[in-house]
Amino acid sequence: MYKQKTTNAANQTGLAASIETPEPAANGGGYIVTNLSGVPANYRGVFVKAQTRINSFIRTKKRRVRINGKVVLVGINIDASVRPIDGPGGVLGRAGPTAVASSDRLPVTGIMQFDTADLAEMARRGTLEDVILHEMLHVVGSGTLWAYKGLIVGAGGSNPRFMGRNAIAEYRRISSGNPTSIPVEGDGGQGTRDSHWDERAFGDELLTGFLSGRKRPLSRMSLASLVDMGYKIDLRKADPYRLPSLEEGMMSSILHAPYIMERPDFDVLDAVDDIQDFDNAA
Ligand SMILES: [Zn+2]
Repeated sequence: MYKQKTTNAANQTGLAASIETPEPAANGGGYIVTNLSGVPANYRGVFVKAQTRINSFIRTKKRRVRINGKVVLVGINIDASVRPIDGPGGVLGRAGPTAVASSDRLPVTGIMQFDTADLAEMARRGTLEDVILHEMLHVVGSGTLWAYKGLIVGAGGSNPRFMGRNAIAEYRRISSGNPTSIPVEGDGGQGTRDSHWDERAFGDELLTGFLSGRKRPLSRMSLASLVDMGYKIDLRKADPYRLPSLEEGMMSSILHAPYIMERPDFDVLDAVDDIQDFDNAA
């Protein structure tokens, strides 16, 4: 998440509201289905937009998973909510997976919770859409599943690196030299470091840990990192992106707002019981 100071143990929701098979038409049958009943009507559109964007590049098939004793065909069910937490600043919210499937170790359910006061401020500044997309990608697993998937080395140290080969291949396409790993954010506290691309190296890219710039592209490297986690992804859906120049990198580190959200203090990963995945069997 974009980070800002320490989180508290806010009430967490349980599993996403049950989603039956077949999907309600309103959700378009996409891999991600977001329950927006806890989101005020004026904010729902931006959540839907983020969901639509992510569903446009995830090609992974849904699988049958037992949730609360009920077998459902599911990609990721997300419970989104907006509620007063602590006023402007401080805790902005949290987002991440709450359960993964034991078969593919990818998220089945997740939450996105935002502080009413901060959401209003982000809407005013025009950053809300990118922040929602960034947070929803944390639910998908970006940053939140790197350690679980064995994709990061040096976590907790001064030079954490992402090791996924698909993302590295994309990094090589845009960088000089022949890098064998990707620099991960080593600054900021828990929730920023070890779970984002390094701000100095990647500037305004959407999945750095600090909100900066006016446009925040979602690069092929970021999409390829989802492939490293086990997703099937259409990389052509990435935004155009180039690395910041040395000068821009220095400017960025001076000018960017040290944004600003807190990582969820839950760790993912109670596997749910899978039954046979008919779609992918044999
Ligand atoms: Zn983040």
